[in-house]
Amino acid sequence: MAISQPISIERTAPRAIRITWDDGHVSDFATSGLREFCGCANCVDEWTGVTRIAPGSIPESVDVVECEHVGSYAVRFVFTDAHSDGIYSWQRLRKYCPCESCAIERAGAGRSEVSVSGESPE
Ligand SMILES: [Zn+2]
Ligand SMILES: [Zn+2]
Repeated sequence: MAISQPISIERTAPRAIRITWDDGHVSDFATSGLREFCGCANCVDEWTGVTRIAPGSIPESVDVVECEHVGSYAVRFVFTDAHSDGIYSWQRLRKYCPCESCAIERAGAGRSEVSVSGESPE
């Protein structure tokens, strides 16, 4: 499956980052939200993959001060709380897109998709 790529990453307001994707999708992130799903070794347990940041524990005042492309697959955000280790791949950014349709998609992704094509393997 092809991974969508951002065609633009822009600051639309203080503490708001908008990513426009090449498939026309738009993701409006709150900077504190971005900080919350940081995937660096400090924020996510390397062994279990469990996020160490409690939801809502990032102050809303946390802003992005710098945004730097990492190769062609990710972006690095530097935050006002001096956190700068987070590499956000396009895949991760898209996965955490806060828009309504993605939220619905995520909720549906929990269900197991069983597609039986009719023929039994025996
Ligand atoms: Zn982090
Ligand atoms: Zn979305």
